[in-house]
Amino acid sequence: MSIKDSFNEVFGDKSRVLIVTAHPDDNEIICGGIVARLIAEGKQVRLIVTTNGGKGFQDRDDIVEAEFAKLRVKEQILAGLALGIPESENFNLGIPDGEVENTMPNIEKIVFHIRQFRPDIIITHNPFDPINTFNEETRWVNHRDHRNTASIVLDATYPYSRDRGFFPEHFSKIGLKPHIVRELLFSDSYSYPDVKYFEITKYMDIKEKALLVHENALSPEDIKEEFLEETNLEPGRNFERLKHVKI
Ligand SMILES: [Zn+2]
Repeated sequence: MSIKDSFNEVFGDKSRVLIVTAHPDDNEIICGGIVARLIAEGKQVRLIVTTNGGKGFQDRDDIVEAEFAKLRVKEQILAGLALGIPESENFNLGIPDGEVENTMPNIEKIVFHIRQFRPDIIITHNPFDPINTFNEETRWVNHRDHRNTASIVLDATYPYSRDRGFFPEHFSKIGLKPHIVRELLFSDSYSYPDVKYFEITKYMDIKEKALLVHENALSPEDIKEEFLEETNLEPGRNFERLKHVKI
């Protein structure tokens, strides 16, 4: 059976899409093709990355966290440009890698962006599962930064962005207004029955180019064998998968 492309069903009536991820390369891995397609169709996209990715240097001993973080954040901006996200819509909150906590100050930072950008839908990580299930054989730990980022986004969405009682300085000092988000998309939800498929066949070269920008985080082999290969769900057709929730 041919896979149904849900792009128009989900994004057809949307103008502004907010993406909130934990690390500088997550956006390109999770939804780089979707972002390229959204931008090609004239949608506005804002990316917020919560951490600076400074601890991802694995066994390299030629670099320290502060220097590595600078490289990662620079790659975030350049990869965003490769997808078509302008630098003015690409933000890094600068939280140290591995240290994302669901706190009021962090919720406030996301609420600020929700009230300012006024998204119609938000893409983020999977807040449900400590273990991600790709299929019967393949599972991995849902990174703590991913779980915590996703739970911050959920809380920021409801009720903190909606209610005037939360962070009233947004209204008095900056002139923002409350905002209600009614739809969310979650990554790493492969095994869920309500996962939706978004066709990105025409945007694979842009996704690849943006992934290759992350030369301090991803090897060309991993990009090809893992992140590009996993989108090839039918001969000659590529998809990214996200769980769609209306609230
Ligand atoms: Zn990540």
